Amino acid sequence: MDLGLKDKVAVITGGSIGIGYAVAQAFAREGVNLALCARGEERVKEAAQAISREYGVRAIGVKTDVAKAEDVNQFVKAIEREFGGADILVNNAGTGSAEKIMDAPDEKWQFYWDLHVMAAVRMSRALVPFMKKRGGGAIINNASICARQPLDYEPIYNVTKAALAMFSKCLANELIKDNIRVNSINPGLIRTPDWDKTANIVSKEKGMTPEEYLDKIAKDNAPVGRFATPEELANFFVFLASDCASYCVGSTYYVDGGWLKVVI
Ligand code: NDP
Repeated sequence: MDLGLKDKVAVITGGSIGIGYAVAQAFAREGVNLALCARGEERVKEAAQAISREYGVRAIGVKTDVAKAEDVNQFVKAIEREFGGADILVNNAGTGSAEKIMDAPDEKWQFYWDLHVMAAVRMSRALVPFMKKRGGGAIINNASICARQPLDYEPIYNVTKAALAMFSKCLANELIKDNIRVNSINPGLIRTPDWDKTANIVSKEKGMTPEEYLDKIAKDNAPVGRFATPEELANFFVFLASDCASYCVGSTYYVDGGWLKVVI
C-alpha cells in the first residue's frame, strides 16, 4: 500500500525512546522527515541522527519540555527554521502516575494537566497554521486505554488522558473544514521504558521481580496475554496520518490486545 507520505514533515513529541521513537522510525521508513523533541537533549539528538543515518530522511532532535509554553515556542521555531512548518503532529509525550486522589496535591494534578493536555493544545495551536497553508494535515493524540478504562493506581493519569481524548474530538470538529484530521489512539500494554520504570517500583511492593510483575499484568488484563512491542503499535500511527485514513475523523482507536472490556 502506498501511503503517499514521502517528503512530508512529522513532528513527534517524546520521540527519543519508546512509542515515540518507534513511530518516528515507522514514519522514516515511508520517507517522512522528522522533528523530534524530548527533555533529554543528548538522547533526542542521537535518536534523530540515528534515524537520519538509517533511513536517509532529514531529522532534528530538539531539547524541549512540552509541559512548558516557552519550550514549545522554541521547538516550533526550530521546526519552522528547518522545515518551514509541518504536515503531521503526534502528541505523544507523557508518563504514568501513582497516587490516591485523597493524597495527591494540586501541584501533581497541574503537572499532568500541563504534560498531557496543555502540551497538545499548545503544539496544535502553533502548528495548525502551517498545516492550513500546506492544504491540510493530520494530528494524532496518543492517549491511553486508561482514558476509558481506568487503572486504580493512577487516577491523575486516567483523568488527564480522558481529557486529551475529549480535546482531540473537539479539535477534530474545529479543523476538519481545513482538511486537518484529528484522531486519538488508546494503546493498551506496550513494553517501553515507562513500563520498566513502573515495574521496578510496583514489583518490589508485591514481592515479585519486574519481569514476573509485567507478565502477570499482561496475562491478567490483555486477552492476547502479552505486551506489544512499540513497533506493533507504530504502523497504526502512520496509517492514521496518511490519506489512506481519509475518512477517519475525530475518533479514538484502540490498539490493546483485547483489553478494553466493553463495546463502544
Ligand atoms: P517512555 O517513558 O518510554 O517515553 C516517553 C518519551 O516522552 C521519552 O522520549 C521522554 O523523553 C519524553 N518525555 C517525557 N516527558 C516529556 C516532556 N515533559 N517533554 C518532552 N518530552 C517528554 O513512554 P512510552 O513510550 O511508554 O509512552 C509514550 C506515550 O504513550 C505516553 O503518553 C504514554 O502515556 C502513552 N501510553 C503508553 C502505553 C504503554 O503501555 N507504554 C500505553 C498507553 C499509552 P525525556 O524523558 O528525555 O523527556
